[in-house]
Amino acid sequence: MAVSKGQPTERILPLLKAGQILFGENRVQEGFHKWPSLKQDYPEIKLHLIGPLQTNKVEKAIRLFDCIQSVDRIHLAQTLKQEMSRLNINIPLMIQLNLGDEPQKSGVSLSKADDFISHCKYELKLLIIGLMGIPPFEENPVPYFKDLVTLANRHDLPERSIGMSLDYKEAIQCGSTLVRIGTALFGSRLQ
Ligand SMILES: *Cc1c(COP(=O)(O)O)cnc(C)c1O
Repeated sequence: MAVSKGQPTERILPLLKAGQILFGENRVQEGFHKWPSLKQDYPEIKLHLIGPLQTNKVEKAIRLFDCIQSVDRIHLAQTLKQEMSRLNINIPLMIQLNLGDEPQKSGVSLSKADDFISHCKYELKLLIIGLMGIPPFEENPVPYFKDLVTLANRHDLPERSIGMSLDYKEAIQCGSTLVRIGTALFGSRLQ
């Protein structure tokens, strides 16, 4: 996945022309500024939301994005369920884990993840396809990646969204199915 947050359309277009179709954005608002017109010109684009989602933006988010990777709390999961039923849109979702239990990061802590995943899958009947996580910076990411993959295996979740510009090689070795690459593709972010 090409992470295009903070990148203007002029920098996205060369990737589209080169055949890249999977992109990630962090913010609903920024997504709406950049992607509706690009999606018209390149209908095969798949756009994922990889940043935090407020419940009051759920309707907008499910209209624009093809997958939301940042499901991390019950209230958000319930709101997604309600709005997807109401609008008759059923997009796949991923659950975000807070792999290092860091207070400044969003995501479900590993100790609560089993219950949360089961609740989303079996009670809310959401289409949960995988897990997403970001390990703590400046630590060896491998044990954290392994924790995520173990959990994904335990719940039969095929997608493991792990690995960014600095640690995608380790992530792939650990079983990533989706690396999220920003700066290594685009250079530094402008916005
Ligand atoms: C910004 C971001 C990325 C990409 O990070 P880079 O280090 O630029 O590759 C990946 N995942 C998430 C959730 C992000 O917010």
